[in-house]
Amino acid sequence: MSTVTAPMHLMNNYARWPISLVKGQGNQVWDDQGKEYLDFTSGIAVTSLGHVPPKVTAKLHEQLDTLWHCSNLVHVPQQGVLAEKLSRLSGLDQAFFCNSGAEANEGLIKLARRYAQKVKGTGRYEIITFEQSFHGRTLATLTATGQEKVKDGFAPLPQGFVTVPYNDLDAVKAAITDQTCAIMLELVQGEGGVHPAEEAWVKALRELCDTHGLLLLVDEIQTGIGRTGTWFAFQQYDVKPDAISLAKGLGSGFPIGAVVATKEVAEAFAPGTHGTTFGGNPLATTAGIATLDTMEEENILEKVAKINSLIIQKLEQLKEQYPDKVVTVRGKGLLLGVELSIPAANAVNYAREQKGVILLMAGPNVVRLLPSFITTEAEIKQAVAALSEGLAQS
Ligand SMILES: *Cc1c(COP(=O)(O)O)cnc(C)c1O
Repeated sequence: MSTVTAPMHLMNNYARWPISLVKGQGNQVWDDQGKEYLDFTSGIAVTSLGHVPPKVTAKLHEQLDTLWHCSNLVHVPQQGVLAEKLSRLSGLDQAFFCNSGAEANEGLIKLARRYAQKVKGTGRYEIITFEQSFHGRTLATLTATGQEKVKDGFAPLPQGFVTVPYNDLDAVKAAITDQTCAIMLELVQGEGGVHPAEEAWVKALRELCDTHGLLLLVDEIQTGIGRTGTWFAFQQYDVKPDAISLAKGLGSGFPIGAVVATKEVAEAFAPGTHGTTFGGNPLATTAGIATLDTMEEENILEKVAKINSLIIQKLEQLKEQYPDKVVTVRGKGLLLGVELSIPAANAVNYAREQKGVILLMAGPNVVRLLPSFITTEAEIKQAVAALSEGLAQS
């Protein structure tokens, strides 16, 4: 194992594993000592096509020799192409591009407030969010986040957010006031423990929004771009949100975020109301286009479904093998959680250190699996065997 110490001039804001990764290819990554790992996290739901995916890499190489940056004072042709693809895949109409998930959610929040205030002409600003949610690390998005540890030490926080229990319709009804402008949620809470929303509840939220004139905002930063088995998680709920945010899987690892909305809502962002220097630059949007093209050409959603059923089968066996340690297996597509009755850290660390398999956690008791969409059956066996040994040691 490599012995990595934190560089003394780097801020110490991450509790990092003691490894230094220097290379990736497909589902494999290598550390600075040459040790190989199986990445069963996709760099936290980002490298869905594997590391350095050849078709995206080729397009990025071409773009690197052509134009990197030009600002949003001009038209960037790739933005129109990517927006058209996202519109076709989502049924929404217009996109705004930025650089990260938190920035996409900031855009989503600003869009909802501006729509309420300038298009609808109301004074509404309040957004209902949910316990255990995760929406980002900027001041507004950490305020929207339903986890106290993310807010600790950052007061005063912006106003206009109320947080209620997830999958609880009465709590949402009770939270609606004459200031409410939107409801914002993840359909599978990723960081918060891999909790899927109930279908009837989500449909009821849509109806509540329609009744009260609220926007339904879905944070698809982790669930979107095929991760849950459909292009977007909302497509499994038979509802249409007014706007969504995207990021993680959209650029195969090249930083890019997006807000995609109905035309009516998107119109709240008139010229001069919102913007970014880097957002949607030619490199990022090229990565986005190549990622979506590759996924379509390779029928990636079918692969996600196949990999999902193979993993679920193996995880159910694991549950039978360790009935006292494995409580339940849940999630959608390739955003899966294994809830344990014991802390998950031991098994996750054992898998990485002893078996070279990188797994994630989602809260103290949940092992989170986010394999790529090109994961093989042999790699599934390898990962589940590593987790199994880790559980045996726990
Ligand atoms: C990762 C994530 C974010 C934040 O994205 P960043 O790119 O880290 O800012 C927001 N919402 C959800 C659901 C996420 O999974």
